[in-house]
Amino acid sequence: MRIGLDIDGTITRAPEFFAFLSKVFMDAGHHVAVVTHRMDRKLTEEELAEYGVQFHELILPENFDHEIAEWKIEAFEKIKPDIVFEDMVDVVNGLPNSVVSFVPLSHKLGQLEYK
Ligand SMILES: [Mg+2]
Repeated sequence: MRIGLDIDGTITRAPEFFAFLSKVFMDAGHHVAVVTHRMDRKLTEEELAEYGVQFHELILPENFDHEIAEWKIEAFEKIKPDIVFEDMVDVVNGLPNSVVSFVPLSHKLGQLEYK
């Protein structure tokens, strides 16, 4: 399987869970990609290392001349994920139907808007 992980609002909400999950996926031979709309690769790598989150690739934007959700949808599509963990509903809604998405809830059920 190919797994896509968002950081802010996803890994940051349950870093111990994602440290465990990423290790299990990696050990089992699955591909783990972290996709984040952050500026600083070095700081992000350090933070992920502190969490213990493992990955094959870390994808950040090369510039910030775009809309966040559109960029993330394209970035996730490039890794051809089977499963994505992402907290932005607009991103999840833009992914192909074949992608199974998990959205950590920052709202109570019923307050999320699904299209
Ligand atoms: Mg996020």
